[in-house]
Amino acid sequence: MNADLEPLLMIPGPVALSPAVRAAMAEPPRSHTDPAFVEVFARVLANVRAVCGADTDHQPFVVAGSGTLAMEMAATNVVGPGQRALVLQTGVFGDRMAQILGRRSVAVRRLAAPAGHTISAEAVAEALGSEVPDAVFLTHVDTSTGVRVDLERIARVVRGAGPLLVVDGVCSVGGERLLQAAWGVDVVLTASQKALSAPPGLALVVASPRALAARRALAVPPPLTVDFEAWLPVHRAYQEGRASYFATPATGLVRALDAALAELVAEGVDAVVERHARVASTVRAGLDALGIRPVPQDGDTVANTLSAVWLPEGVGADLVGRVAERGVLVAGGLHPDLRANSFRIGHMGWVGTQPALLERTLRAVAAAANCASTADGA
Ligand SMILES: *Cc1c(COP(=O)(O)O)cnc(C)c1O
Repeated sequence: MNADLEPLLMIPGPVALSPAVRAAMAEPPRSHTDPAFVEVFARVLANVRAVCGADTDHQPFVVAGSGTLAMEMAATNVVGPGQRALVLQTGVFGDRMAQILGRRSVAVRRLAAPAGHTISAEAVAEALGSEVPDAVFLTHVDTSTGVRVDLERIARVVRGAGPLLVVDGVCSVGGERLLQAAWGVDVVLTASQKALSAPPGLALVVASPRALAARRALAVPPPLTVDFEAWLPVHRAYQEGRASYFATPATGLVRALDAALAELVAEGVDAVVERHARVASTVRAGLDALGIRPVPQDGDTVANTLSAVWLPEGVGADLVGRVAERGVLVAGGLHPDLRANSFRIGHMGWVGTQPALLERTLRAVAAAANCASTADGA
């Protein structure tokens, strides 16, 4: 197979995979009770804790599903009908969380920022000053706007006021600094196919003791397939080196995630986060040279896992298609207010260890943008 002929995935997930992860995906399927799989699953759970900065009393859950399923699992285990939630909305994923909560008959209040703007800790303090909900939900990096919120400061404010804090880290875990235990985050959720650099198909949720207690206190339990209580004995068994069964785990995907997490942990979680910051500035300097600027309005709020950027002067949204013709997949705008005038480049995970692939991306964008402005004729 000629790797150069494959389209290079530079969208904000699914992402390009390392050779070790690809090799893991090609292994024959294992039984969920195979001692080799038990060992793999136990290691995955330990490494998920490490990547999230979770303590040993935090419980990671790894189940088959998308990031959206992880959102559903997190939301429905910590609040139930009639309880109150505050959703901090910095893009489309906050809106999705509000929808999930609404369907569970949770009373949702939204604090929404215009596209490209962040939500400050002060604004959160003010919102909590008027009414304290049962739980606060936020998106660490919203993939539709490229905005990162200051999680450490917001967590301090939320912790001070008392509600649970649930963080959608689908586009941040493994790429941005996140210390779940130290910052007092109750639930961190993510998915396999973004900064963790594994194939799509696994939903990951890490719950604090407070979040596990909130589940036990619910009057109306969550759907069985996402219930912490149903999965807890299974995950505890694997952690202790014993096979267990509730619903068949995606054994092949867990094996691939194991390979991805092993690479991440070997490099060091802090080192990986620093690398993401370096890669982000390299990519943005390259884009800046082409006259392409970030959508996020304030420097501190620009994510390191992806760049949501304005289309350059005189270039339309068909730029994405012309970049694809050059063998590199970038993504169009996702947020309704940004669809016509922006595009997005994912630069999270293993691809950041490959300078040649980052250069190839920038070359493809430059060529596509140049040919566009020539075609538009100035
Ligand atoms: C991608 C993403 C999701 C949804 O994940 P899916 O696997 O597509 O369901 C949720 N939140 C954020 C921040 C994301 O980037």
